[in-house]
Amino acid sequence: MSSDLTTLSASAASAKVKSGEVDAHELFEQWRERSRLDDLNALSWSADSVPAEIHTGGPLGGVPLGVKDLFCTEGVPSQSGSKILEGYLPPYSATVVDALAAAGAPLLAKTHQDEFAMGSSNENCAFGAVINPWDRGRVPGGSSGGSAAAVAAGLVPWALGTDTGGSIRQPAALCGVVGLKPTYGSVSRYGMIAFASSLDQAGPITNSVADAALLYSQMTGRDVHDSTSVDHPDPVSEVPAADLTGVRIGVPTELSGEGIESGVLDAFNASLELAKSLGATVEPCHLPHAPHALSAYYLIAPAECSSNLARFDGVRYGLRVDPGEGLDAMYGATRSQGFGPEVRRRIMLGTYALSSGYYDAYYGRAQRVRTLISQDFDTAFESFDVIATPTSPCVAFELGSKTDDPLSMYLSDFCTVPMSLAGIPAISIPNGLSEGLPVGLQLVGPAFSENRILGIAASLEAAIGFDGSAARL
Ligand code: GLN
Repeated sequence: MSSDLTTLSASAASAKVKSGEVDAHELFEQWRERSRLDDLNALSWSADSVPAEIHTGGPLGGVPLGVKDLFCTEGVPSQSGSKILEGYLPPYSATVVDALAAAGAPLLAKTHQDEFAMGSSNENCAFGAVINPWDRGRVPGGSSGGSAAAVAAGLVPWALGTDTGGSIRQPAALCGVVGLKPTYGSVSRYGMIAFASSLDQAGPITNSVADAALLYSQMTGRDVHDSTSVDHPDPVSEVPAADLTGVRIGVPTELSGEGIESGVLDAFNASLELAKSLGATVEPCHLPHAPHALSAYYLIAPAECSSNLARFDGVRYGLRVDPGEGLDAMYGATRSQGFGPEVRRRIMLGTYALSSGYYDAYYGRAQRVRTLISQDFDTAFESFDVIATPTSPCVAFELGSKTDDPLSMYLSDFCTVPMSLAGIPAISIPNGLSEGLPVGLQLVGPAFSENRILGIAASLEAAIGFDGSAARL
């Protein structure tokens, strides 16, 4: 009998396939069997057979991939967590999914998410909530909660998520895995079902920083289908753990005090002490406009979503509900039955914020705040190499505990939204446990500094020595 290949890290498995020690088809088959153990509602689809051909010559060496529902995958349901797209089979795949398959990461499974990536708990999924493998009464975070839960539970070796205001980092934190939100524009958005186009960015969710670096290294680059994509000026290849001697870590007072659970703060402070013992300097810094990030985000993101989601009208694709009373009635019935309550709320907010009398007062103002937030980061990076914050103000919360209170749900993104508005890279790494539940540490750098933050993250990951095996199914 062959050994259990699913206990290998993705990087280790990839190295073994490349050296000829492991057969890629055997690896895929073992992961396919693992994926069938899903009792967390983490997966929305999984492969029913091993692909005839697996590209093993590429840098990823044939290690199969989990992909968030909202990435278009040719012939495979791509529903963005919404009833309006239930069963939708795209005729093409997202650029990044194709690029990863070509680099040797074949599609193993799709993962559940909040509807159109709107949420912080995965409870806004039209196909049911995802469950946190650390505690079955709790949420995995959102919106990439299916990807984070699947990686933590060992249902897939690694996965793709997307982050608009925190949706890679926050679920990674709540599930005890690594999540990287890359610099805006470094990964093509072509074939990602859009939420808020000026913020959406794809990134890896993995069990280690090394796996995140390996997956991300094959995701970047200019794509003619996405005019906002660029070639990375400093592409990630192999990221050695950085020497922390002399590394200047800034801790924004605005994002590391009030509103953060005490257990989360304790874990955060303990890791800052570790960083110091490894030679880093840790000083407070200021992001004076960061406390306004949530307000700006919850105008800009709904405004963009109200425009992006106009395409779901019952004509082009997906659900059509036609009461037989003309076109307007068909649009209305399709959209009110196809979209869930959070999506409808945001379309209404966004439409209002963009309406002619209010455009300047709301959308225009939010964009000005966004610029100030970006400038705060530029100023901070004149004195610091990296900024550190807790990823989420709290550990995984109980299912249902915030569903009736959208504002308290929105507060989950307090520490992650400022970086999204600034378009800069940020990684969440596991930072121990509080009350038996995972905590995340966020490290943030200037645009295109992925090599730097991955290196620093790798050193801290080794020093923290988190053991996530309790979540494995
Ligand atoms: N939780 C945030 C929201 O609901 C962020 C979502 C995301 O990053 N996709 O908008």
